[in-house]
Amino acid sequence: MSSTPAPRDVDVVVIGAGQAGLSTAYGLLRQGFPPHTGFVVLDAEAAPGGAWQHRWDSLTLGTTHRVHDLPGLPFVPDDGTAPAVEAVPTYFAEYERHFDLPVLRPVRVRAVRRTADDRFRVESDAGTWTARAVVNATGTWTRPFVPRYPGQETFHGRQLHTVDYRSPEAFRGQHVVVVGGGSSATQLLGEISRVASTTWVTRRVPVWRDDEFDEDAGRAAVALVEEAVREGRRPGSVVGVTGLSTNTPYIRDALDRGVLDRLPMFDRITPDGVEWDATDTSPARSVRADAILWATGFRAAVGHLAPLQLRSPGGGIRMDGTSVAGEPRIHLVGYGPSASTIGANRAGQSAARQLRRLLRPELARPA
Ligand SMILES: Cc1cc2nc3c(=O)[nH]c(=O)nc-3n(C[C@H](O)[C@H](O)[C@H](O)COP(=O)(O)OP(=O)(O)OC[C@H]3O[C@@H](n4cnc5c(N)ncnc54)[C@H](O)[C@@H]3O)c2cc1C
Repeated sequence: MSSTPAPRDVDVVVIGAGQAGLSTAYGLLRQGFPPHTGFVVLDAEAAPGGAWQHRWDSLTLGTTHRVHDLPGLPFVPDDGTAPAVEAVPTYFAEYERHFDLPVLRPVRVRAVRRTADDRFRVESDAGTWTARAVVNATGTWTRPFVPRYPGQETFHGRQLHTVDYRSPEAFRGQHVVVVGGGSSATQLLGEISRVASTTWVTRRVPVWRDDEFDEDAGRAAVALVEEAVREGRRPGSVVGVTGLSTNTPYIRDALDRGVLDRLPMFDRITPDGVEWDATDTSPARSVRADAILWATGFRAAVGHLAPLQLRSPGGGIRMDGTSVAGEPRIHLVGYGPSASTIGANRAGQSAARQLRRLLRPELARPA
């Protein structure tokens, strides 16, 4: 917890201190909001690093898609071998210190409500704040998604989600069914298959792309997710839009070893494994499994915003840029199209700019 006691009535409460919350805090600082009296950042973690402090040990900076620098302080590059679980939290800690950001932790926000005088009451396990605006930057890591399949509760082996994964050693000599069509699934298959046998199942046939995933392709993918959130639909994953890249050595290696030969989703889970019914093109079959690893993604961690009734009938929150449509005092940074390190950087600064114009137009524009 910061040593400066923070006032409980501020212009802006930022919830979450990952890439999205820190870039917003930097933006608010640059826009002239005074730390502590003008804004605070409430973070549920005991230490800096956001979700990065919980990622698996073998995820190095070389095997991530690329962790973009936060604005204003470069991430000192290494040779790509540093575990992200250590390197990113160290950088975030340095970032918070360097800019003396008013991050208060551990503070888990339980609910955000409107007050009678049309402000926001932010209720947490460390007390209550009131604010004129809220920036939600809580990411997705705390809301892992596991789909339901018949027989799931009867399985005798281990079931785990990406968030529970630590290292392949836990599976040595076993058979592991990996579920999911995203990059976490392919990365984990690549390493688990070196010590265990694996089966990969996905709902949709994976689309592989061997061209460079350039800025145009990135922009096109983000535009599709933007369209979804503008219409109030649940933001899908960017991989669903972009396809999976074959452009990394570990994926090429896994493809060469046949580890990424995919099967369609099974029909049910049994005590010993998984089963498929017969189809027109394949007979009924089963696979025995010691473990099922659900690399099936995440949902936005926005349950504490429920009292504000922001959800649209489409299941998502209708957005207008970084703010909730029709409510320019609530911004979601790191949500939908900004759910990447570079997207969060841009969205955090854009939200800060808009909040200055709205709440503190008298503050000087930064040079
Ligand atoms: C395995 C994996 C690898 C990835 N690799 C990349 C990559 O290489 N490049 C890239 O651009 N993106 C990557 N991503 C996406 C990545 O998660 C985002 O880009 C970015 O790190 C998310 O930042 P964030 O600030 O939104 O969320 P987080 O880092 O999750 O930070 C959210 C913070 O909010 C806190 N919080 C949550 N709920 C509450 C609450 N109720 N009250 C208070 N605090 C709360 C959390 O504890 C956390 O500290 C990856 C994602 C995964 C799952």
